[in-house]
Amino acid sequence: MPELPEVETIVRYLRPRICGRRILSMESDTPRIFRGSQRQQITNPKRIYEYTRHAVIGKKIKSVERFGKNIAFVLSSGNNLLIHLMMTGQILLNPDRKSPHDRMRIDLSGGVRLIFNDVRKFGRVRLAANPQDLVGPDPLKISLAEFRNRLRKKNGIIKSLLLNQNIISGIGNIYADEVLWFAGIRSLRRGRDLSSAELSRLYRACRRVLKNAINKEGTTMRNYRKPDDSEGGYYAVRKVYQRTGEKCSRDGAIIKRIVVGQRATHFCPKHQK
Ligand SMILES: [Zn+2]
Repeated sequence: MPELPEVETIVRYLRPRICGRRILSMESDTPRIFRGSQRQQITNPKRIYEYTRHAVIGKKIKSVERFGKNIAFVLSSGNNLLIHLMMTGQILLNPDRKSPHDRMRIDLSGGVRLIFNDVRKFGRVRLAANPQDLVGPDPLKISLAEFRNRLRKKNGIIKSLLLNQNIISGIGNIYADEVLWFAGIRSLRRGRDLSSAELSRLYRACRRVLKNAINKEGTTMRNYRKPDDSEGGYYAVRKVYQRTGEKCSRDGAIIKRIVVGQRATHFCPKHQK
């Protein structure tokens, strides 16, 4: 959390509101959230913070993009400022309250203030010249042929493969369960054992679930909020995630929960084979 639909919702919200604005200042009292860029090999968090600050102040935000679960501010310098929200990170625009968990404040031209808030401080901020190189292809942009190629020879179990950001980017624990429910595939199957028809079903399920979740503006359980502090609506319409003991809406079987790779996994024992 947050996953592709939540990050996409945030990016779509920010895009018309901050594109074309100049970064006037950046302040943080939590240097540990800053990570070194791809080129710079600095390790001291305070120095990374100062370096990042120096690189972004005075630059214009040309566009806001998403790479996997990263939000990218594309700067007029050609560099990108990347934010990964990890577990509890939030982006807020012009919030009317201050919080002790505000980790970074960016003031933009036109009186716009962007806050990165993170209770648990797992989120990270960094510069990246080529953010597309940091993660695997996007499930909404990849072709069916490439999707199949990336999964079919893999020995790992399909749920873990879907969560692996180097194979396909953007899917996390909630949507992996939802996708496998729609595709009718058991979470513990191995990538190499999936038939061509099953991989096609999985591909279509990814697109269907992620697009639907973007339409619903993501899933709010605890921390995820849109930058205007409102909630996403996918949780109410989810099919299987955290529905342990409830009836499957497809066939009435009771939804089960197991733990796969330390992640709670929910599935229908009847139609997911
Ligand atoms: Zn079912």
